[in-house]
Amino acid sequence: MCIILGQEASTQKRIVIDVGHGGKDAGAIGINRMKEKDIVMNIANEILSLNGKLEKPLDIYLTRYKDTLISLADRTKLAKALKADLFVSLHCNHSDNPNARGIEVYASKKQAKYSKESVFVGYQIEKMLCTVIGYESRGVKFANFQVLRETVGFCPSVLLELGFLSNEDEGNYISGYVNIKQIASTILKSIEL
Ligand SMILES: [Zn+2]
Repeated sequence: MCIILGQEASTQKRIVIDVGHGGKDAGAIGINRMKEKDIVMNIANEILSLNGKLEKPLDIYLTRYKDTLISLADRTKLAKALKADLFVSLHCNHSDNPNARGIEVYASKKQAKYSKESVFVGYQIEKMLCTVIGYESRGVKFANFQVLRETVGFCPSVLLELGFLSNEDEGNYISGYVNIKQIASTILKSIEL
């Protein structure tokens, strides 16, 4: 029994959730003047709280717990220092076109040890968010984002653009507490796998 428990403890997945923007960097400003930095903080806090209620919680760390600005380099340093099994960066999209909508997932353009796994995890998260929340899929894309470039050699890493704050439907959706909880629970389920 003790051995089994010991094994479980050692295989507990360690996730670093990068809470985008913060402090003087508000990120995108959406309809109703909502700020991207606040929305992603709310989602991350909800993931932590839901994780605490799981029978086998994941070992989750956030790159920020408050409304502070953390450098991109420090965000990736944390993932490396903690030897994370997965790095997930949370963001929301914005467009001048009010009709732009849907979820986008990014993996690093740079080819490194965890490139394939990053794409796999990205598809997995996107698929579940589209199925459960009903987001339109804009696909898994590749970009040269610093937080992805600096982590993909160490662990699978993805960046999620959780809908458009500039779109009336998606902006309103992501402002509601119940919906934030639903998004958080879906992300948690998709990274638990
Ligand atoms: Zn952002």
